[in-house]
Amino acid sequence: MLLKITSKGNSASNLGFLLHKHPDRYQIEQLPYGAVHMLYPEVSEEHCSFAMHIEINSVHLARTTKENYNASFKLGHYVNDRSYVASSFLTTAISKFLGSALNGKCNKRPELVDEKLSLEIEVAAVKSRKGKSQIIDFFEPLGYTIDVEEEQLDASNPGWGSSPYFNVKLQHNEIILKGALTHLYVLLPVLDNNKHYYVSEDEVQKLLDKGGEWLKDHPAKELITKKYLKFKKSYTRLALDQLIGETDEIIPIETEEKISLHQIRLETVAEELKKLDIKTVVDLGCGEGKLLKLLLKEKQFEKVLGMDISYRSLEIAKKRLYWDRMSEYQKNKIDLIHGSLNYKDDRIAGFEGASLVEVIEHLDEPRLQALEKVVFKYAKPKNVIITTPNKEYNVLFEGMSVGQMRHSDHRFEWTRKEFETWGDRIAETFDYEVSYKPLGEVDKKYGGASQMAIFKTKKNE
Ligand code: SAH
Repeated sequence: MLLKITSKGNSASNLGFLLHKHPDRYQIEQLPYGAVHMLYPEVSEEHCSFAMHIEINSVHLARTTKENYNASFKLGHYVNDRSYVASSFLTTAISKFLGSALNGKCNKRPELVDEKLSLEIEVAAVKSRKGKSQIIDFFEPLGYTIDVEEEQLDASNPGWGSSPYFNVKLQHNEIILKGALTHLYVLLPVLDNNKHYYVSEDEVQKLLDKGGEWLKDHPAKELITKKYLKFKKSYTRLALDQLIGETDEIIPIETEEKISLHQIRLETVAEELKKLDIKTVVDLGCGEGKLLKLLLKEKQFEKVLGMDISYRSLEIAKKRLYWDRMSEYQKNKIDLIHGSLNYKDDRIAGFEGASLVEVIEHLDEPRLQALEKVVFKYAKPKNVIITTPNKEYNVLFEGMSVGQMRHSDHRFEWTRKEFETWGDRIAETFDYEVSYKPLGEVDKKYGGASQMAIFKTKKNE
């Protein structure tokens, strides 16, 4: 983790006063997560560079990090990018050791604080899953000239392509040091999309303190605010309220874990099924019976069937539904069957409604083609609701890297366009009408966290 700040031009060495760090001194400080080295690699009247390097203690990191970087990669605690990416570790060190400069204080030479400098700032390994463009989108409106060098995933294997890490050089000819440090303080963790500490309400004040002066005019203020506050809805509102005084058009979003996107998905599907005014439903790929539990509560449904290929999931479903303690009325209403969506099965035929909640993405292509026929040609429910993740939304989830899927068992994840192309073909082939809706929180640009297609047979008598 490396930050280098160079002041150029007359009295460049005033940087030493502003940073409260003597140019002749090599300082090492300890933070719980590692050692912070601070030194001046170059000092002259015209050119003065200050460098901060953080040597992360990876053992401490592995022991204390609760976050699971990737559920499908169990070594994630040990093998991750935290020790080199410009992250909240760096901004915490800035706040701790360059705090006066960050807050615009300089006791010895107070007149320097507002002096505009010609600064060059180099930051190694800035992480941006959205690529180079997001770095430019964030820094350019603040008046920087930006030079971004893309890092290959592995220089000896160019075929592996580029990484989400960039070496960034920012140049500004008229900027006060405090301004530049606050830009880094806010934007580096936002680009990284990860903070090493819990984001509490204090973060709102921090954002307003550090970003208050420039964020309100920034074209990406909403995205920056949301990401800085880890998509916490109430904090985002609070911050934007104070920054711009109105939040009407903001549609806040949270991460999959926090608002239990899955719960929203299930409740929405149950609502949609109810709206269809149908009495019989089959939940295909019912898993542990979460949707069945909701459906069972509804008087409207007289027959509810769950089917899954996983026997173990069905056993869990039975426990969740308190199978052994069910009333006669409920027992008559519900059934669970072990079966596969790859084979024609008369037991799932003749239902008025069918749901497949986050199922299709678990099947690879040839099996998906079999499923299409099994559901739409043979079982032929009058209404079918299918949900699947919206791949476009993944960029907004914490801790997900480029190309990573939400679940290790997913064979694919589709954009809205891909899902709709698939759905339109299904509707056309099997004589259904189809409409699409976003599921969960909706982002203006990336759409819903998940997506839903509602098919109705045209011969709905
Ligand atoms: N619908 C449930 C479970 C989703 S997980 C819910 O929303 O909670 C996907 C489920 O699809 C798993 O339970 C898995 O066992 C099931 N599944 C995967 N392939 C299947 C197939 N070919 N036939 C039937 N079920 C299948």
